[in-house]
Amino acid sequence: MKTNPSISTDHTIITSSMAMACRVQFSLHNSLRLFSSSSSSPIIHPSLKSQRVSFRNPNYGAFYCTCAAAEPFVVTTPLYYVNSPPHMGSAYTTIAADAVARYQRLLGKKVIFITGTDEHGEKISTSAAAIGSSPSEHCDFISQAYKALWTELGISYDKFIRTTDPNHEVIVKEFYSKVLASGDIYRADYEGLYCVNCEEYKDEKELLENNCCPMHLKPCVHRKEDNYFFALSKYQKRLEQILAENPDFVQPSYRLNEVQGWVKSGLKDFSISRASVSWGIPVPNDPKQTIYVWFDALLGYISALSEDKQQPNLQTAISFGWPASLHLIGKDILRFHAVYWPAMLMSAGVSLPKKVFGHGFLTKDGLKMGKSLGNTLEPTDLVNRFGADAVRYFFLKEVEFGNDGDYSEDRFINIINANLANTIGNLLNRTLGLLRKNCQSTIAIDSTIAAEQNAFKGTVENLVEKARHHYENLELSSACETVLEIGNAGNVYINQKAPWSLFKQGESGFETASKDLVNVLEATRIMAIAISPVTPSLALRIYTQLGYSEDQFYAVTWSDTRWGGLKHGHITAQPQPVFARIELETELNDDDTIETKKVSKKKEKHKTQKVVEA
Ligand SMILES: [Zn+2]
Repeated sequence: MKTNPSISTDHTIITSSMAMACRVQFSLHNSLRLFSSSSSSPIIHPSLKSQRVSFRNPNYGAFYCTCAAAEPFVVTTPLYYVNSPPHMGSAYTTIAADAVARYQRLLGKKVIFITGTDEHGEKISTSAAAIGSSPSEHCDFISQAYKALWTELGISYDKFIRTTDPNHEVIVKEFYSKVLASGDIYRADYEGLYCVNCEEYKDEKELLENNCCPMHLKPCVHRKEDNYFFALSKYQKRLEQILAENPDFVQPSYRLNEVQGWVKSGLKDFSISRASVSWGIPVPNDPKQTIYVWFDALLGYISALSEDKQQPNLQTAISFGWPASLHLIGKDILRFHAVYWPAMLMSAGVSLPKKVFGHGFLTKDGLKMGKSLGNTLEPTDLVNRFGADAVRYFFLKEVEFGNDGDYSEDRFINIINANLANTIGNLLNRTLGLLRKNCQSTIAIDSTIAAEQNAFKGTVENLVEKARHHYENLELSSACETVLEIGNAGNVYINQKAPWSLFKQGESGFETASKDLVNVLEATRIMAIAISPVTPSLALRIYTQLGYSEDQFYAVTWSDTRWGGLKHGHITAQPQPVFARIELETELNDDDTIETKKVSKKKEKHKTQKVVEA
């Protein structure tokens, strides 16, 4: 989706911009589907049944019944605008959405995880022309770059919608006709200052000196067009009421305040067609105009639900899973999702999404990222150097979800080494080492019996329940922190019990020591499930080390976080580090100081990851 500051030269990163159902089935993707426990008969822990989040659906005058026996959990990322390749901001939103989708699958829900690319608009045709390419070639290329990055990051999306998909166009036109039939579209002359980067007319009072757009810092151009307008102002009262009655509709709460402020200050009708833009979906009955890119792109959330084999139409698409459970977006496109979109849906008589969550922006070393500063963070580069688990974990744990967050390489490496390599990886590795040496890698006793009258079990159970609560509330950072606390507790436990010395005492210490090992390994098993939404590959490696097959791992549900999984006689695998520490090789230059600084700074980009044993 079109958006924000990040697309222009000075991007801030996160964002989101926004629109074919994806037929790509990588083997990874397939395995992720298996991970969804919907394939097996899911067992929901009794405590989960009673604590499902309930929500008053702000559904006004919907024509369609969208109730289904098993309502799917539909989570969306923005449809990313294809004027430039994916950046860390889009990767961040998508990683977060993936963690949410994976958590919901663990609960046994049917999940539809939607992402995609927004491919229309003046900016796209300009970007394509600038590199001597046609708009459609350009869109194919960038859209593919998104898919490739999602594969590298282990993103388990179910649907990848492109707004140039013919099925999407059919649904946009149908939706437009419904809004027209509601009497909410009228034709008017419009004259004003237009920001091509925002693709919208600006209010003169919000502009900077020389009529510069405050987001893009480029002068707006004077334009006069005869356009079609959407009567947003008609929905002011209803929006006010929805926001007041459904405080969870926009989250976090400070973003709800912002949205309420906008609505209260008065809603103006907005233009939903462009006479000057040819790269877009033609307005029904007036092919000289195209539909405004935002009006088009937002509908990707619904058209994505269409099944390939079906003749596309709005009602069928809706029947496959609308309303969305959660739109995850960057804060820069909040107005479109929390004001324009609900009004458009009400006008067409379609239910509103259940929740819009606007996260913050990312900075690097405390600075806003931008091409001009030369400090952008390339997600592909990060994944190539550190691996998907590390990238996913760092951003989800270190950025409080909703707020702005910062990346620095030192911090990244410290956190990853301390948490994933040491606290989790090393705990597992040394415990398995002891089990191998003293018990032939065999679990000597059921973990339930091993933990009798042992406070450690209770500690782990409390932490798992806490982690579940955090996931449920989209507190992803706290969820990571809580899972890590299980690792910390495991390390404290094993250091205090010192089973290695008990084993040395011969038979007298053997039983106690082997129980201790089982307790720690049971905790790592539970930890693997609880962290799997964030670091799926690491979780699989832990499970494999514990002696389970991949199929067993992909069949786990959240209910398997209950204590008691490891049974007497179970054999664990040969211990191998599950997470390699990151070690940087810094290359130094012997030339004069200034040169050295330059070179070493430049070389920072080429530091290599050296794998050493944890
Ligand atoms: Zn602008």
